Amino acid sequence: MMTTSPSDASVTGFSSLGLSDTLIAAVAALGYEEPTPIQREAIPVLLSGRDLLGQAGTGTGKTAAFALPMIDRLAKDPGSRSSSGGVARGMVLVPTRELAMQVSEAIYKYAKGSNLTVVPLYGGAPMDQQIRGLRRGADIVVATPGRALDHLRRKTLNLDELAVLVLDEADEMLDMGFAEDLEAILGATPEDRQTALFAATMPPRIGAIAVRHLNKPSRITIGREKRPAGKLPQVRQAAYIVSREQKTMALGRILEFESPKSAIVFCRTRIEVDELTDVLTAHGYGAQALHGGMEQKQRDRVMQLFRKEQAEILVATDVAARGLDIEHVSHVINYDVPNAPEVYVHRIGRTGRVGREGVAITIADSREQRFLRSIEGLTKQKIDIKALPTVADLRVRRLEVTRESLHKQLTAKGFEEMRGIVESLAQEFDVIDVAAAAIKLAHDASDQATPLQPVKPAPGRVEASSPERRFKPGGGARPYGRSDVPDRSRPAGPRGSERDRPTGPRPTPPRRHAGLGEPLTTIHISAGKKNGVRPGDLVGAIAGEANIDSKVLGAIRIADDYSLVEVPEALASRIMVALRATKVRGNQVDVRLEKDKK
Ligand code: AMP
Repeated sequence: MMTTSPSDASVTGFSSLGLSDTLIAAVAALGYEEPTPIQREAIPVLLSGRDLLGQAGTGTGKTAAFALPMIDRLAKDPGSRSSSGGVARGMVLVPTRELAMQVSEAIYKYAKGSNLTVVPLYGGAPMDQQIRGLRRGADIVVATPGRALDHLRRKTLNLDELAVLVLDEADEMLDMGFAEDLEAILGATPEDRQTALFAATMPPRIGAIAVRHLNKPSRITIGREKRPAGKLPQVRQAAYIVSREQKTMALGRILEFESPKSAIVFCRTRIEVDELTDVLTAHGYGAQALHGGMEQKQRDRVMQLFRKEQAEILVATDVAARGLDIEHVSHVINYDVPNAPEVYVHRIGRTGRVGREGVAITIADSREQRFLRSIEGLTKQKIDIKALPTVADLRVRRLEVTRESLHKQLTAKGFEEMRGIVESLAQEFDVIDVAAAAIKLAHDASDQATPLQPVKPAPGRVEASSPERRFKPGGGARPYGRSDVPDRSRPAGPRGSERDRPTGPRPTPPRRHAGLGEPLTTIHISAGKKNGVRPGDLVGAIAGEANIDSKVLGAIRIADDYSLVEVPEALASRIMVALRATKVRGNQVDVRLEKDKK
């Protein structure tokens, strides 16, 4: 049962924080459903103009917590708009170049509708390029201390009109020896500026800076929640540390290795839920999206599919999954680290119910590892940091799965017809060889699919030459032809992997379901990308309206104006009748067999 059904950010709490409509629209467009704990606490304080001392680490949403009020204030104050000649009105100091890029990217996204400019300044990048950026106008600069000081000395950066200063990851800046630089930069700013200082830890040196440079700050601590009441579920907890670009690939391997019967994959935003569902669906998983932006009817349908075990994976935001009563989840996978420890506890509480063993897996990047430790502290339970299954591990696992499937088949009987073939071959070959060859054929049939590709185009290459292949837990193959394997001989440029998007046309779809061996036929549906159709819509409509298990479907191809779905021949007319009677993403569709094409 659903207890919450927010359909836009205004219902979910961003609007009650006092932010402008433009910023509320900006976070809604990014797919945020509700503020994180640090945002709920820090935004009203910063909007009121007070200074802030916040204890919060990466992953808590602290960037938006300081950036949104900063943008709000600077956008509302056009009178003193400098925006030229290197006169900055907002500045964020961060310890590393990587963080400077990340934070300025985030601010750029939040400030899109606000007509403010943001310029990152970090070492190792050409000075003249940064100077040109500053000259063009920089309302907000995001800088590492060394480079900020460089620009101050050259007078290419002017902080005389600075209204808001943020020291982000201040403990790390001190650890890296930036104390003197910070003092020099602070000395170049006006006394009446607003200052926010964030640090994951609060050593005495941070306290000293706060006393000297913050004006009666409000203090906020995140990540030290009391242990939740009630018994924590007994759940096997593991985490994999991978870079952001490798997350989708990591999820692919984890799903392959774990073969979950039913899993909830948690993401932070609606957009990520939709994108990940598309990727999983295109790789043959029965995945369904669930987030607050969907209509109640759609959500009910998704829940019904998941409950009836016609969808093995539910990809959800926290808000949408809140209040869901699901009994049979074998795995909870955190595709994104949750933004507060209690959210983690809440998520993993969805598995390991009624005495069944549950598994909770978290995919995190190295910066988020500290957060895992604070969760361990809260729950007093261990989270194993594990190495991703290698391609060799997956092969071994795959053999195990095949063995289990064979065992099941041998117990279930029903292969009398095949005995004749074995008996005739046994005249010529050793019986064990015959069996082994049969297993090899099954493997070759499932050797057709690609590993999961990144949800977003990754900078640089991802998985340059992985020989791994997808297989379907339970022995069947993913319905994917070799022709789908992207050309990896060319390096992927910054946006290059866009061509790997799984919703793209597939030239030669397989004619037979590789796992089930059933003859397939292709149906043509008169709505495609231009109508907003995604693989999940087609799978949802077919599974929901024709009451058909999504596992029997083959490849899905979504072109601009139409879509093609491979379905078992025997079920084609039932599916076509059902699709004609319903809507796909709100579109009434014409449906026909692809071979009927004139
Ligand atoms: P940060 O701790 O600022 O590095 O943020 C961690 C991640 O959380 C970033 O990917 C943000 O885009 C995301 N994020 C921040 N606030 C929210 C929110 N309210 N809802 C969903 N995701 C968020």
